[in-house]
Amino acid sequence: MSHSKNLMIAISAVQAACKVCQSIRSSDACEDAISKKDRSPVTIADFGSQAVIIQRLLENDSDLKMVAEEDANQMQSLKDTSLGTDMVNAVAEVVPGATWEKIARWVSCGAYEGSATEAFWTLDPIDGTKGFLRNQQYAVALGLIENGEPVLGVLGCPNYPVDGFESKGGAIGRLFFAEKGKGAWTLPLSVSINDLASAQPVRVSPIESAVDAKLCESVESGHSSHDDSAKLTQALGITKESLRIDSQCKYAAVANGDASIYLRFPTSAEYREKIWDHAAGVIVNMEAGGKVTDIHGNALDFSLGQKLEKNQGIIAASASIHDSVVAAI
Ligand code: AMP
Ligand code: MG
Repeated sequence: MSHSKNLMIAISAVQAACKVCQSIRSSDACEDAISKKDRSPVTIADFGSQAVIIQRLLENDSDLKMVAEEDANQMQSLKDTSLGTDMVNAVAEVVPGATWEKIARWVSCGAYEGSATEAFWTLDPIDGTKGFLRNQQYAVALGLIENGEPVLGVLGCPNYPVDGFESKGGAIGRLFFAEKGKGAWTLPLSVSINDLASAQPVRVSPIESAVDAKLCESVESGHSSHDDSAKLTQALGITKESLRIDSQCKYAAVANGDASIYLRFPTSAEYREKIWDHAAGVIVNMEAGGKVTDIHGNALDFSLGQKLEKNQGIIAASASIHDSVVAAI
C-alpha cells in the first residue's frame, strides 16, 4: 500500500501532537482547564496540540487552509503564567525553538472558514477534553476535506486499549488512519513513520442483525441524549451493555469492531455538530466498511463552514445494520 505525502505528514503531525498531550497529561498542569465562552473546558494541551499540527502542516504548505477548534485569543490569559510556560516547554520538546509568540501564530492559522470547493484540513487538537481531564479516552483528530467530504483522516488515540475495552491494565495507544478508497488501518501510536507498512487493516463488526449490536455513545449526556439511545436499544432488542467513551475514539471503536453502532442523539433541536468532531472519524469508519449518516439517514455535508449545518446527530454503524438503525429511529 503506497501512502500519499499528505497522509505521511498528517500521521507524523498527529504523533507529535499526541506526545505534547501525553507530556502535559503526565504533569500537574493538565488539571488546570480554563473555561471557554461556551463553558466547555480547554487546556494548554489543546493549544499545544493545535500549534504542533499546524506547524508541521505549514512546513509543507505555507498557504495552509485549516479549520481548527481552538482560537488563539483564548490563549492570551495564559501568557506569562506558569501554565503558559509549561505549554511552551511541552511544545518545544517536539518543535525545538518553539516560543509563546510562535505558538500563538501557529494556533491562529487554524481560523479558515471552510469551503465547498477548495480542499482544506480540519482539526480537533484534543477531542474529548473531558476524557483527557479524567485520564480516559481522547483523540487528536485531523481530517482533510475535498468537495464537502472527508478524504483523509488520522486519529491519534493515546489511551485506546490495544486488547479491547474489556481488558484491564493492558497496553494502550493506537493510531487509526484512512484515505478514500484505500481502506482503514491501525498501528501502535508510537510506531516509526518508516514502519507504516506494518499497519493492520481495520474492519467493522460483520454482524447481520442490529439485535447483536454493541452501542457506543458519549460519556456526557449533555452531548448525546442517553434517554433517546436507551429507547432505541430497546426498540432494536439490543441487550449488550453500551460502551460509553469520550471523543472520536467512538468512530475508531466501531471501525475496529469493538462496538457496532456509534449513536449521537441531539440534546436540542438547534445544536449543529462541528466538522472537526467528525471529519477524521467518518473517513476511518467508512473505509473500514461502516456507513455514516445523520440520525435521519442523510449524508453528512462538510461544505457549509464550521458546522454540519444541514445535519442532526450521527449514526455510524456496520453498513450491514445501518439502514435498520435509521428505520428504528
Ligand atoms: P463526546 O466526546 O462524544 O462527549 O463529544 C465531545 C464533543 O462534543 C466536543 O468536542 C464538543 O464539540 C461537542 N459538543 C459540545 N456540546 C455539544 C452538544 N450540546 N451536543 C453535541 N455535541 C456537543
Ligand atoms: Mg471535539
